[in-house]
Amino acid sequence: MKSAAKRAALGLLSSAPVHGMLRWRALRNKPLTVLCYHTLRPDNENLDAWLALRLGDFRRQLDILRRDYDIVSLDEGLEPARPGTRPRAVLTFDDGEWGLYEYLRPLVEAEGVPVTVYVATGQIESGVPYWFDRVMNALQREGAGQIDLTAAGLGRWTVGPARGKARWQVIGDILEALKAVAPPDREALAQDVVAQAGAGAGTGTDAFSPLRPMSVEQLRDLAASPHVTIGAHSHCHSLLDQIPLNEARDSIARSRELLRAWTGQPVRHFAYPNGNFSPALVSEMAALGFASASILGDRPAPPGSDPFALPRIGIGRYDGPERFRLRLVGI
Ligand SMILES: [Zn+2]
Repeated sequence: MKSAAKRAALGLLSSAPVHGMLRWRALRNKPLTVLCYHTLRPDNENLDAWLALRLGDFRRQLDILRRDYDIVSLDEGLEPARPGTRPRAVLTFDDGEWGLYEYLRPLVEAEGVPVTVYVATGQIESGVPYWFDRVMNALQREGAGQIDLTAAGLGRWTVGPARGKARWQVIGDILEALKAVAPPDREALAQDVVAQAGAGAGTGTDAFSPLRPMSVEQLRDLAASPHVTIGAHSHCHSLLDQIPLNEARDSIARSRELLRAWTGQPVRHFAYPNGNFSPALVSEMAALGFASASILGDRPAPPGSDPFALPRIGIGRYDGPERFRLRLVGI
């Protein structure tokens, strides 16, 4: 019943007159629409992970965008909109997943579409995925079954065998529970989940580990494209508002230095991991010499937005074309 009502509401909001009005209202002040993606994966892959968009879906989203928007680089998007121009959209990708090298790079090269890739350098340097990717990889196993973290004061979940959005919601709940744990305990609990799922070490070398970092060489190749801007995303990928400010500053600076060394390019843009930020971090960014820092905001960025808390709309695997069109206007 609930999902039938949801579908009806989605249908109404997507109808031409209502969507036209929503679109007019959202775009009348010429905001900048910044989209936040993570990685691209093949269409036929059996994967329950919100952040892994099917390549075909991404292509369809590009078609939708091109009808109404100019897709511009982040540097261009940060400049004021010129009179008489179409609404502008910026495409960004977080973390530095291997799928970006494999699937995004050829598309960007063939079509000349500008993108920004925010790279968290810890996993590139070590070659080992962060805890959340290891957990997601492990829970892709058919036999993942029961995950019990009651001993740690968290919950108990059943990751059923039926693939799809409902299965992802259970996996997403486990990730959210782990995000709420203090960072030193999180690594051990994440490994506990991986072990309970029967997935071995989950370091990215298991049989099915679709979520893993690019190598330094792949990152260098990606960065060499004139259509790609590389931004920093911290070294540790900790939620930066949950660790001491000096640790956050070191992690931000280290990621920028490594990216400079690996790509030979200056790094002017930053994205807060998970979008978590604080007033102290915002004032830190200009002092560190960045031109922008992105958060997650689920709406287009109005003119005059703080460039160090630039809102982005997160787009995931389960956003179909109707949902995507509504997400663009902040619904
Ligand atoms: Zn991230």
